[in-house]
Amino acid sequence: MKHVAILGSTGSIGRQALDVVRTHPDLFSLYGISAHSSEAPFLAQIEAERPKVAVFSRPLSTDVSGTDVRWGDQALYDLAADPQVDVVVLAISGIAALTPLLSALKAGKRVAIANKESLVCGGDLVKKALEVGEGELLPVDSEQSALFQCLENGRRDEVEKLILTASGGPFFRRPREELKNITPEQALKHPTWSMGRKISLDSATLMNKGLEVMEASRLFDFPGEQIEVLIHPQSVVHSMVAYRDGTVMANLSTADMRLPIQYAMTWPRRMPSPAAPLKLWERPELTFFKPDMARFPALQMAYDCLKAGGGCPVVYNGANERAAELFFAGALGFLEIEESVSFALDRFRNRPMRDLEDILAADGEARRLVDEFQKTRRSK
Ligand code: NDP
Ligand code: MG
Repeated sequence: MKHVAILGSTGSIGRQALDVVRTHPDLFSLYGISAHSSEAPFLAQIEAERPKVAVFSRPLSTDVSGTDVRWGDQALYDLAADPQVDVVVLAISGIAALTPLLSALKAGKRVAIANKESLVCGGDLVKKALEVGEGELLPVDSEQSALFQCLENGRRDEVEKLILTASGGPFFRRPREELKNITPEQALKHPTWSMGRKISLDSATLMNKGLEVMEASRLFDFPGEQIEVLIHPQSVVHSMVAYRDGTVMANLSTADMRLPIQYAMTWPRRMPSPAAPLKLWERPELTFFKPDMARFPALQMAYDCLKAGGGCPVVYNGANERAAELFFAGALGFLEIEESVSFALDRFRNRPMRDLEDILAADGEARRLVDEFQKTRRSK
C-alpha cells in the first residue's frame, strides 16, 4: 500500500489524481491533500476523502474533525517531505510548486510531476536534488509521459530526437491578425483537453509547448537541437521518439490525464485505468504539421531560452505567468502575452542561477518587467 499526498488537490490534475487513488484502494491510500484559494471545494474534499493531513494557504474558517488541518508554506513543504508519504502528486500550478518539489525529492519521495514551471525554472537544483537523494521524478504531463514510455524502448545514445506533439490550441488555423482581440473565454476553449485556466491559455499562445520543450530537455537531458515539435490537432499521439535506425516509437491513447497520472504512480507496472479505451477505427484521420515559428514566436523564444540557459527560462516562465494574470484581468491583449515575454527577455541581464534565491529574484524581475510593459502600453 502506497501513501499518497496530492499537492494542488482542488485543481484539474489534483481531482483526477484523487480519482486514480479511489480507483485503486488496494494500491493507494490518500494521506494528504493541499490547496491554495478554493476553500469550499477543499472542505468538501476533506469531508469526502478523510485524508490524515490537509494543508491550506491560510487557516480554514470552519473546524474539521478527523483530519489534521495545517496551514502556510512550511506546512506544505512538510507534507511533501512527510515520512509517512511514499508518492507525491505535484499538481500545483506555477513556480509555487518548485519549493515543495525540492522538499519531496530531498526526502526521497517518488514525485509524479504534472507541474512544468518548476522544472523549467528549477533546472539544476532539481537535478542536484535527484543526485543526492533517493527521490525519483515520474512525468505526468501527457507529452512527457509519452516520451518517457517511448524512451523505455531503446538506449539513450540510440535516440535521434524527441518529437513533442502539440494540439495547436483553439486558434491553430486562425490568421494572426484575428488573434489580437481574443477574449479569455475564447482562449479557454481547448479543442481536445479539459484543463485548468492557466495551462489552457498557455496552450492557446503555444507558451505551453515552449515550456514543454524546456521541460523535456530537463527531464530527459537532451539539448533543444534534439527536440522537435509537431502540430497534431487530434491529440491521439501524445509524443514520439525517433531512434537512429529510423524507427519511431509513438505513444497513443484517448486524451485522459488519469492515464499518465496513474502510470507515474504505478510505474514500472501497468494497471487497469479509468480512461476509456482508444478506438482508432472511430478516428477518421490523424494529421501532423510542422509549426510555423513566425506565427507562434512563443515557441522560438523557448528554444532561444533553452540555449541561453541561466535565468532566461525563469524569465520566460515568470513573465508568462504574470502576463496570463493580466490577460485574465483584462489588462493585456492576447498577443501582448508573447510581446510582454519578449520585452522581459530583452531587458533581462542573463546570469547563472546558483540557488533558489537567484531563481526567485529572476522570477520577480520578470514579473516587474511585464508590469512595466503593461503600463507603457496603456499610457500610449
Ligand atoms: P489548476 O489551476 O486546475 O489547479 C492548480 C492547483 O494548484 C489548485 O489546487 C490550486 O489551489 C493550487 N495552487 C495554485 N496556486 C498555488 C500556490 N501559489 N501555492 C499552492 N497551491 C497552489 O491547474 P491544473 O491542474 O490544470 O495544472 C496543474 C499543473 O499541472 C500545472 O503546472 C500545469 O501546467 C500542469 N499540467 C496540467 C494538465 C491538465 O490537464 N490540467 C496537463 C499537463 C500538465 P486552489 O484551487 O485552492 O487555488
Ligand atoms: Mg502537455
